[in-house]
Amino acid sequence: MRVFTAPECADHEPGVGHPEARIRLAAVLAALRGDPAIVVSSSPPAALAPLLARHSAAYLATIETTSAAGGGVFDEDTSASAATWGAVLGASGAALAALDCAISDRGHAFAAIRPPGHHALRDRAMGFCFVNHAAVLAAEAHRRGAGRVLIVDWDVHHGNGTQALIETEPTTRFISMHQSPWWPGSGAASERGAGNVFNIPQAAGLAPTVYLEALWDGIAAATDDWLPEIVLVSAGYDGMSGDPLGGFTLEPEHYAEWTRRLRERFPRAPIAMVMEGGYAPERLAAGVLATVRALGG
Ligand SMILES: [Zn+2]
Repeated sequence: MRVFTAPECADHEPGVGHPEARIRLAAVLAALRGDPAIVVSSSPPAALAPLLARHSAAYLATIETTSAAGGGVFDEDTSASAATWGAVLGASGAALAALDCAISDRGHAFAAIRPPGHHALRDRAMGFCFVNHAAVLAAEAHRRGAGRVLIVDWDVHHGNGTQALIETEPTTRFISMHQSPWWPGSGAASERGAGNVFNIPQAAGLAPTVYLEALWDGIAAATDDWLPEIVLVSAGYDGMSGDPLGGFTLEPEHYAEWTRRLRERFPRAPIAMVMEGGYAPERLAAGVLATVRALGG
């Protein structure tokens, strides 16, 4: 069971009292390092080239210069500190290392990282996110020869950034289950992109098995005649019961069950997961641990 992280991820500081706090990743890494079967590796920072597949050079330069100046506000809930650019490159580096592990057939892999990515747009930070790791990995997987890339987004919020970045790209299919109505407001089932977008909006407060089966039915429908060569997961854990930013009712066992089902349904497709949301640190840690254990079989 391979997990990749980067020490720089710990240093991003989005502001006092912000839910995307340093303690999140610290709790995750403590849980993972407590299991001797899990190998946690530190990755070098990403180069710019893979990020430029999804983001403009001018936007990336803005993150870098804002960090160099000590930090600044990008939107109402997304701020950079002096360490943010380094954390973004570290997070992308760990995500790319997880992808490389999966593609090189060394096994499924999980990137334990922050800041998250699935709200980030081509030229704009949004919703705690600066660089869209899932979309960057999909582009990199294509560049390395994968013809069909599946992105599953089980964060409680709609992955609007990922959708916007891949919605004209039939070689990538994107499935997002998310709370609705809820921030950021997008993600209706009618948003289909080039036929490659599959949104599954769900009400808050339902039984966890309803969410479990709804996402699975969506995955089955989206891949009925289309077998992915690689599976990417925007693995958010703010859908867990008790999360302050979501109203779903999931438990660690449900993320493990999705992971087992993905392995069984796509036995030839390696899986690379990137951590997204999850704002109750101990719950997040339990969810990630269950997922990584299920990735390892
Ligand atoms: Zn979220």
